[in-house]
Amino acid sequence: MTLPFNLAADASAPPRPAKNPLALIGNTPVVEITKLDAGPCQLFLKLESANPGGSIKDRPALAMIEAAERDGRLKPGGVIVEATAGNTGLGLALVSAAKGYRLVLVIPDKMSREKIFHLRAMGAEVILTRSDVGKGHPEYYQDKAERLAAATPGAIFINQFANPANPLAHQTGTGPEIFAQLEGKVDAIVCGVGSGGTLTGLSRFFAECSPATEIVLADPVGSILKDVVEKRPPGEAGSWLVEGIGEDFVPLNADLSRVSRAYAVSDAESFAAARELLKREGLLVGSSTGTMLAAALRYAREQTAPKRVVVVSPDGGAKYLSKMFNDYWMEDLGFIERPATGDLRDLIGRRHDLGAAVTVAPDDKLQVAYARLKLYDVSQLPVLEDDRIVGLVDESDLLLAVIENPARFDEPVSAAMTTNIETIAVDAPIPALRRMFDKDFVAVVVDDERFLGLITRIDLLNHLRRRKD
Ligand code: PMP
Repeated sequence: MTLPFNLAADASAPPRPAKNPLALIGNTPVVEITKLDAGPCQLFLKLESANPGGSIKDRPALAMIEAAERDGRLKPGGVIVEATAGNTGLGLALVSAAKGYRLVLVIPDKMSREKIFHLRAMGAEVILTRSDVGKGHPEYYQDKAERLAAATPGAIFINQFANPANPLAHQTGTGPEIFAQLEGKVDAIVCGVGSGGTLTGLSRFFAECSPATEIVLADPVGSILKDVVEKRPPGEAGSWLVEGIGEDFVPLNADLSRVSRAYAVSDAESFAAARELLKREGLLVGSSTGTMLAAALRYAREQTAPKRVVVVSPDGGAKYLSKMFNDYWMEDLGFIERPATGDLRDLIGRRHDLGAAVTVAPDDKLQVAYARLKLYDVSQLPVLEDDRIVGLVDESDLLLAVIENPARFDEPVSAAMTTNIETIAVDAPIPALRRMFDKDFVAVVVDDERFLGLITRIDLLNHLRRRKD
């Protein structure tokens, strides 16, 4: 067989096997985005999800560990301590595994279970601490990590917010790559700030090699950084759902002096941009890329001359599938509007008439009901026969059925379900729900005989929360 390239000499030949996973860090691809409206500009995405740990933070993780090795603070078999539940933790876990260091991460207890499972599965030791306390409190995650490192023989505190190797990784890696990939023609770079490493490193590289390149900040609404760039006294920090960027303080590693434009982007606009990119271009990116992409599109559309605009996309979207790519999550938080019906259907979390309810049939086995409760993380299932509700089955019903004899998991749902259910008509007023909740019933909404869905207390709370805005 003849290959379409000359293996020995051709630049189009695919790269040879890397010597180890760490050798795969960097040299990430850039793709041009053509299906979104970028005004007169060309828009490029640098896909940092291609790093082996899945994000841009592999670069500083490797750089910070190697810097500590070089200056002798980190010895073979040493301990690395950091305070993070994010991509930095995953990057450090990757490098620690490859180099044989023990990694201890101090994580606020509000972080998602998925992130903690992921880090533990990579071999990191996770220490949970309080998320409801701020700087200065002994349980504050940064302070706790620093103390822990000081008290542990052979340990170093990585401290990505102040570690100079963090921006340096971008100044010597990410920056030159972008410059080479765009053949030196880069008019603007859009990025966000978490630790500030990316923005500062790119600012420094471009200040030297291409001073006309604009540095544009994409900041979540609620973060104070845009105010700092625009030299306004920062307003009180708010909260946002986009992960990895935005701050209520200016990290030591964030040098904002070269930022010429800053955009504040809401969660809604960030999520919409990421979802649009997936729909139009098929690229699954994370939420902070959504913020940066939204800012880049605004910047691009404001231009009168054609410009080449680069967004550094910090991570991929797989870890956000149950959040911003989940329509129900988006609806529950009011980011997607369902057409209003004006009746109780507006309150149903998962509508059966739209194919969204999780249900069982009376002759399904109890183990099917058990698996469905677990898979969808719901507390009860309606039991349906031809769109009519004939019962409800919840954890207590299941437990009661099998507690004496686990073999009963093979029995049908009809043997264990509750048939004492009260229905509520779809045109009943909302206060009528209160009566059902007071009796500890879940509201079963019907239109005549036809089952439409369940309303639980959290569905009512979601509805009221949406109406507040
Ligand atoms: N996006 C995501 C998803 C991140 O995890 C991070 C790192 N916190 C950033 C953006 C920001 O990068 P930096 O720390 O270099 O400012």
